[in-house]
Amino acid sequence: MISITYSGKRQPSILIIYTGGTIGMYEDPESGALSNFDFAKLASYVPELYHLKFNISCYPFDPPIDSSDMLPRHWADIACIIQDNYESFDGFVVLHGTDTMAYTASALSFMLQGLGKPVVFTGSQLPIGTLRTDGKENLLTSLEIAAATDPDGRPTVPEVCVFFENQLLRGNRTTKISAEGFNAFRSFNYPLLGDAGIHLRFYREYIHHPSPGEKLRVQTDMDTHLAVLSIFPGIRREVVKAIFHIEGVRAVVLVTYGSGNAPQKQWLIEELEEARRRDIVVVNVTQCSQGTVEMGRYATGLQLLQAGVVNGYDSTVESAVTKLMYLLAQELNSDELRARLSESISGEATVTA
Ligand code: ASP
Repeated sequence: MISITYSGKRQPSILIIYTGGTIGMYEDPESGALSNFDFAKLASYVPELYHLKFNISCYPFDPPIDSSDMLPRHWADIACIIQDNYESFDGFVVLHGTDTMAYTASALSFMLQGLGKPVVFTGSQLPIGTLRTDGKENLLTSLEIAAATDPDGRPTVPEVCVFFENQLLRGNRTTKISAEGFNAFRSFNYPLLGDAGIHLRFYREYIHHPSPGEKLRVQTDMDTHLAVLSIFPGIRREVVKAIFHIEGVRAVVLVTYGSGNAPQKQWLIEELEEARRRDIVVVNVTQCSQGTVEMGRYATGLQLLQAGVVNGYDSTVESAVTKLMYLLAQELNSDELRARLSESISGEATVTA
């Protein structure tokens, strides 16, 4: 672990977990080639860190990985690093590639139950070592968020969240929406937790706090026996059938139209009913970025409800996938699994009656 420490009056202590991605890259000014920079020299790339006067330690993944290569075992590594260092730090900043950041942040929001300290994910679209980088601002403000406390001394944002281009979002509500712009993440179905302008503002009514006395509980097992099926006009029965018959598959995230609708085809209902008989759980989320699944609203959605499809409400695909992995790894029978899926476990869904 690499540290920048301050002596004297108690300063916030923050652990940076560097997993990889563009933010940790450096552009050789002469050749223009990108390479991972040495985190032992973090402060020489970002001398502004000294102005924060925080005790900062850094735990780099070795080797750093592009987030396209992230796996559930890497999520478990992040969860374990946080658990092992939980008492020694006031907050955590996870530097991560942007491509799958929404998946990792969603997964960690389930794996870290009873979380009482900030876990702030950030990254950048341009390497931290380039002139117009968004990485420095994202890193410095994430550190400030991880260290922020309320007047009673409690952490202001004890949640898994994503900070990107001035916006603080709940991690499991986040989706990457741009491969180009700095403003690359959105939370379409949940308000901002905060934003950074001249002042760092927090919207406390939307921030989750653990119950008094609640302790951190970490689950690192994730079961990946699931598939995602996005429907489209003209989808063929054999495609649906093949997905439900993948060996070992235990759950399917069905990505439907509008408020949770699918074509009114008898064969689709038969496939869903057969999947249910084989204890395969199907969760309905919408292809729309904004809004929620309401399966009773149209006949095209009601038929899914009647075939036993579970409502995923306004969950993102990222959070539906990782929530299923988290729940499938628990010893639940199919009724318990369906009941847990229908609840909001970590603020990932707006459950309506
Ligand atoms: N491919 C990179 C990654 O996700 C992109 C980035 O860091 O923004 O790791």
